[in-house]
Formats: sequence, C-alpha cells, structure tokens
Amino acid sequence: MIPVEMTDVESLSHAVRNSDPHEVYHLAAQSYVSVSFDQPLYTYDTTGLGVIRILDEMRKFNPKIKFYHASSSEMYGIEKSKIKNEKTSFHPVSPYAIARVLGYWTVNMYRNRYDMYATNGILFNHESPIRGVEFVTRKISNGVAKISLGLEKTLKLGNLSAKRDWGYAPEYVEGMWKMLQQKKSDDYILATNRVHSIKDFVNEACKVAGISISKIESSKENFRPFDVQYMRGDYTKARKKIGWKPKTSLKNIVKIMVEEDISRWNRWLKGEQFPWDVTPDRRSVKI
Ligand code: GDP
Repeated sequence: MIPVEMTDVESLSHAVRNSDPHEVYHLAAQSYVSVSFDQPLYTYDTTGLGVIRILDEMRKFNPKIKFYHASSSEMYGIEKSKIKNEKTSFHPVSPYAIARVLGYWTVNMYRNRYDMYATNGILFNHESPIRGVEFVTRKISNGVAKISLGLEKTLKLGNLSAKRDWGYAPEYVEGMWKMLQQKKSDDYILATNRVHSIKDFVNEACKVAGISISKIESSKENFRPFDVQYMRGDYTKARKKIGWKPKTSLKNIVKIMVEEDISRWNRWLKGEQFPWDVTPDRRSVKI
C-alpha cells in the first residue's frame, strides 16, 4: 500500500513513480453529493483538480500508462432526456457533479492532446453489501436487517419517489477493467437501462427481511435541498464495443444486500465486530 492524498502532488508523484503501473484506476474522491454543498472547495480540489494532478504525473513519468477515471452519472444532473447516453450533454447541479465534469474534460483533453490512453467510465449507481451506509440502498438493507433482528424499531428515509438505475457493483468493476483492455481509450456508460424508485427498493427489502413496510418512514428532514429525481442510463455503447452487460436484477441485488446485512448483524450479536458499521449517531448525518 502506498498512501496518497489527492491534493498533494508530491504524494501522487511518489505513488506513480514507485509503483510504475501499467494501469491506473482512479477512484479517489470526495464523492458524497450532500457533503459537497458544505465543502465545495475541498470537493473541487480532490474530485476535480485531483484528476489533473495524477494525469500530469503520469504524462511526465510514462504517458503509456493506461488511466481509468471514475466519472459519474451525477454529471447529467437535471438534463431533461429520459435516458442518458455518451452523447447526452451535462447539466450538473452539485459541487460534486461540477468537479466530475472538470475531471471528465481533463481526461478527454489528455487523450486528445497527449495521445494518452485515458478513459472515463460514467457509472450509474452500483450497489453491493460493501456500499457505504450513507447511500440509500445500503441504508435500507442495513436498516431492515436491524429491524428484523429487533435492534432498531424504525428506519427514517427521505424522498421515496426518486428513481435510480441500480446495478451490481462487482459487474461494474469488471466493466472498468474491460475499458482498459481495448485498443483505444474512449468514454463508456455502465448502467442497466432500468429504473426503480426508492419505494420499490424498500418494498423488496422488507419482503426479504420479513418485516412490515410500516416500519419505514419518509421524513422531510432527510430530503435534499436539490434532488435528482430520475436517472437512467443506456449502456449500448459498452455492450457493443467492450462486450459488457449487466446480469444481476435489482431483486437479486436487494436479496444479496439484505441477507448479508442480516448475517453480519447476527454475527455482531454473537460478539463479532464490523468496523464499517460502527457509525456515529446516524440522526446527525446528512444525506
Ligand atoms: P445518489 O444517486 O448518488 O445521490 O445516491 P444515494 O443512494 O445517496 O441517493 C439516491 C436517492 O435516494 C436520492 O434521490 C435521495 O434523495 C434518495 N433518498 C431517500 N432517502 C434517502 C436516505 O435516507 N439517504 C440517502 N442517501 N438517500 C435517500
């Protein structure tokens, strides 16, 4: 492990030179949308300028290194078209999304200006049992698991009518790798082309956990000041060019996540510790 800090070019230079990599997967960022409103400059610095810092170190050290940038569907923001593809224009509405747009164009510029193999993966929401509890899917799977074991009485969410295009994270990681195994670099969307509401996710999760839906509340305090209501991606280009397609249905993703959380909390009840679940008072955490 070589630690780096995205605001510190020295540490990035050291990591690139000492690891001498063939491929770089750049996932480091301040990636919470809500936090980005409280810390816009830090978000621009790490998530946006960080891309330039690392790419430029690669250019100086070895411009043949292949680069993957974790771009984001958040860049589309309130853009009006129902389904987004690689030609859809961006209309970002948060400091996080704006920083991502900076990174996106930086990658394009290094590809065109310096002929580097630099790729943007525009990944729509991808979930798994190791998703952070700050995100709604894991908050739900974790919450219903605790309710089913009597560790919690209710779960408070926010906007239940928002719709998302949720895929299974391990498949998306394979897609990232595929993006770097091509002859030329390009930009690709990974998505499922299907949407479900937060409510749909809740219903399915309650079914798997065997609890009543009445335990789940929607509370105004958990609504975002400016929410993206609908997000759906077209993965046709990735299917055709890199042979990628999503395989796991949302129903199965919910099952995998809820069952894993129930199993963890059962193990926790027997004394096992899970550092990623030792969270502060969740009521004070903004979404
Ligand atoms: P995002 O798509 O990257 O913002 O991923 P999230 O999982 O954080 O949020 C997805 C959607 O769920 C957004 O429209 C949120 O407003 C909505 N949502 C509703 N309740 C909650 C909640 O309690 N926590 C979070 N994180 N999102 C919630």
